[in-house]
Amino acid sequence: MAEIVLRDVQKYFGAVHIIKDLNLTIADREFVVLLGPSGCGKTTTLRAIAGLEEISSGEILIDGRPVHDLEASNRDIAFVFQLYALYPHLTVFENIAFPLRATGEKRSEVEKQVREVARALDIVHLLKKRPSALSGGDMQRVAIGRALVRRPKAILMDEPIGALDAKLREDMRTELKRLHIENKATSVYVTHDQVEAMSLADRIVVMNEGILQQVGTPTDVYQNPANLFVAQFIGSPVMNIAKATLATEGERSALVLGENGDAFPMPAELKGRLTARGGPFGDLKIGIRPEGVLVAHEAGEGFVPLEAHLIEPLGAYDIVDLKVGGSFLRARTRSGFVSGPGERVFARLDETQTHFFDTKSGQSLQ
Ligand code: ATP
Repeated sequence: MAEIVLRDVQKYFGAVHIIKDLNLTIADREFVVLLGPSGCGKTTTLRAIAGLEEISSGEILIDGRPVHDLEASNRDIAFVFQLYALYPHLTVFENIAFPLRATGEKRSEVEKQVREVARALDIVHLLKKRPSALSGGDMQRVAIGRALVRRPKAILMDEPIGALDAKLREDMRTELKRLHIENKATSVYVTHDQVEAMSLADRIVVMNEGILQQVGTPTDVYQNPANLFVAQFIGSPVMNIAKATLATEGERSALVLGENGDAFPMPAELKGRLTARGGPFGDLKIGIRPEGVLVAHEAGEGFVPLEAHLIEPLGAYDIVDLKVGGSFLRARTRSGFVSGPGERVFARLDETQTHFFDTKSGQSLQ
């Protein structure tokens, strides 16, 4: 298998700077997901690793060997595209066998390897069919089988399940995860779907406008976003972000949210954390996920009375919009906990889930 290293990679299309100084090491057998909005340069990065796109400068190394000048066919990397790209006139067996036949593999070996891959993907019963007789999910299984059959050093996938419907995408996600656990091929996977990224990745690489924003485990990027972009891109519903001002009265401090919003008492620990970073007295934004906004029916230490505005029942839980100043703070509550709009409740910010960001740079102050 393979370690993939990108060192100071730059890519221009004409005068447009698409990939900006990308440095990334993907460990052998790791499953890395490139995640970011449309147009941020994910596909270009993947194509550069595969050798389908030349880089403008920098280095790409596979197992320590520079490959950026090697042809795609000499990189021993398989690529799975969003569109299935199967040969319509060949059976499923022949589609999967194609890369092996191309290298002149023995008949018996081809038979053995195709069957092995087909078993792993649960498509043995489809081997004699042609692509036109398959569902979208099965076509993509065949495309993945064709990529895996020659045991490449790495497998690169560009939104491989993006065209499938939601239910099938979920099934395929589980399957891809299982396959990776069994095969352990170094995998680089592109998606703009954060749920897909969270569920598949060992590490997520968050990109925006050609710039790497953060690399970390799914838990890490979720719990410790490096900047405002990551904070708002990861997580659904999105993290609450509000302008925050610190009001101090003697020993006590409070965070005023929004323009003339309510003041939430600020625990000493939180203030200490912020002061240690040279804050908090400049331009500040607070970030808190809906599950970090604790809601109660009765007043208590640190709780502020607020009015519920909208309630979104999502089955397992509700998302409740609470009026704060001229804006809303979204809280996640037990299903049915808040009975309806207009109800008065009490809310507190869980300090362990409170993030601060510099308004100008957007960088986390944690
Ligand atoms: P998507 O999810 O929409 O595929 P992406 O993050 O994968 O987005 P890329 O496909 O890498 O983004 O494209 C990054 C930018 O480069 C886009 O602005 C795109 O228009 C531009 N681009 C991509 N390929 C070319 C090309 N061959 N010539 C000129 N510009 C290109």
